[in-house]
Amino acid sequence: MSKIVIIGAGFAGHTAALYIGDALGKNHEVTVINRQDYFLYIPSLVWVGVGNMKPEKTTFKLEPVYKKMNIKFVHGKATEIHPDEQFVIGVKETDNSEVKMEYDYLIIATGPKLNYDNTPGLGPKYGYTHSICTLPHAVEIRDKYLELVERMKKGEKIKMVIGTGHAGATCQGATFEYITNIHKDLVNKGLRDKAELIYHSNERALGDFGVRGVVAKYGNKLIGSDEFIEAVFKDAGIKWNIQRATKKVDEKKIYWEDFDGNFGETEYDFAMLVPQFTGQPFKYVGKNGEDVSSKIANPAGFIKVDGIYGLPYDELVNKPEAWPAVYQNDTYKNIFAGGIAFAPPGPISQPHINPNGTNITAAPPRTGMVSGIIGRVIANNVIDLVKKGKMTHSERMTEMYAACIASMGDSLWDGSAATIVMYPVVPNIKDFPHQQGRDRFITLMEMGLAGAWMKKLIHYTFIHKLQARVGWKMIPE
Ligand SMILES: Cc1cc2nc3c(=O)[nH]c(=O)nc-3n(C[C@H](O)[C@H](O)[C@H](O)COP(=O)(O)OP(=O)(O)OC[C@H]3O[C@@H](n4cnc5c(N)ncnc54)[C@H](O)[C@@H]3O)c2cc1C
Repeated sequence: MSKIVIIGAGFAGHTAALYIGDALGKNHEVTVINRQDYFLYIPSLVWVGVGNMKPEKTTFKLEPVYKKMNIKFVHGKATEIHPDEQFVIGVKETDNSEVKMEYDYLIIATGPKLNYDNTPGLGPKYGYTHSICTLPHAVEIRDKYLELVERMKKGEKIKMVIGTGHAGATCQGATFEYITNIHKDLVNKGLRDKAELIYHSNERALGDFGVRGVVAKYGNKLIGSDEFIEAVFKDAGIKWNIQRATKKVDEKKIYWEDFDGNFGETEYDFAMLVPQFTGQPFKYVGKNGEDVSSKIANPAGFIKVDGIYGLPYDELVNKPEAWPAVYQNDTYKNIFAGGIAFAPPGPISQPHINPNGTNITAAPPRTGMVSGIIGRVIANNVIDLVKKGKMTHSERMTEMYAACIASMGDSLWDGSAATIVMYPVVPNIKDFPHQQGRDRFITLMEMGLAGAWMKKLIHYTFIHKLQARVGWKMIPE
């Protein structure tokens, strides 16, 4: 009997758990440990954050799903990994008791640590700016936003800044979606003229999104995502400041540094700034009690897998095979990492060091869709290893599709969405040398009501799939 432990039940870990539970749960021991006792459908938090979706519509309890799939569930936080002796130590959320989980295969899928400490004053932790990355944060920002709506109704003008809170932040897609949802909500409430909306980002260009932007078909033309997003912002009256690294935040101002090395300040009444993401901090303990973290994680805490690390950017962009294929640690072959937890080999966007030596570069996103696909690849390989002793699955981010649907409102009648489909996620210059690394036949950008329908549909079909309901395996990640 094999023992499989999965740390984290987000898009990557939960997807992996379902496939492994389905294939191995009856005859092997599969355990998932997760800090919350629920799965959180994070993409819909942009709707929670403006009060257009009830928080409970974005979650479901994990335990009943795992029972059905013959998976043991621990509601707790993993704290130590002992890779030589093959066990994980965790602390149960319910009674603070310690739990030891032995494994033959370990999957680390812990998503990001929201590193507010790297930007003084940032985030709910310090009480000035907000976040939309977790359920409690989304509820908190919704309450603040609705309080401001009441003030706007009385005639007050409010300045709202939405964007990134660190030179190396990612998740620009979510910030774009949140600001456009605020715009749409204020239009619906007849209050749009009471708010100044500013997009504030570390991206090199609008529409970069940490994936080097996209050039795609739009109707009968080819356009760049910079033009596309600029048109959306102009249409919505949203201002933008890009190429900016947030350095510090206080009660009234965001302090930043830009690509040219200038320092400046932006005043705000309300701000949502996404922090730097790092890996979750674990103790990695060797057989003699020594620290073996350097064999597993990079200095930022992301798990090193089968990527080629340390290449200069110019080399990396010409080497699709530098991106991991099976998400397996090199030293400990029975450890895998998926979703945001794995260490990418470098940025996808072109890095920028400004004259002050500050590196202002959007980090590579590992979106929900990408995380789910990686979770499936890892699961299939673990199933292979248990059944046949040999892995047969692989998928690099240079071979993966992604669809980003950024909604503007959740209405199926007058909602809208900016849809960007890209193949592959990481431009692959070898396969598509004359198309900036992406397949022009598949890559597209679209604006309209159809995207709003799609986004709503995806919310419900994904939650259906992730609850392992009828036909779940037929719904793609
Ligand atoms: C507002 C917002 C909107 C977004 N919209 C989209 C979208 O439209 N489409 C899209 O594809 N992506 C979207 N994303 C990105 C997407 O949500 C993430 O890429 C995705 O959640 C990453 O999945 P993951 O499994 O790596 O991590 P997560 O989903 O963060 O899951 C990690 C899990 O691990 C748990 N965990 C962490 N540490 C421990 C520990 N020590 N012990 C036990 N458990 C632990 C966490 O509690 C969590 O449950 C959005 C993100 C945000 C913030």
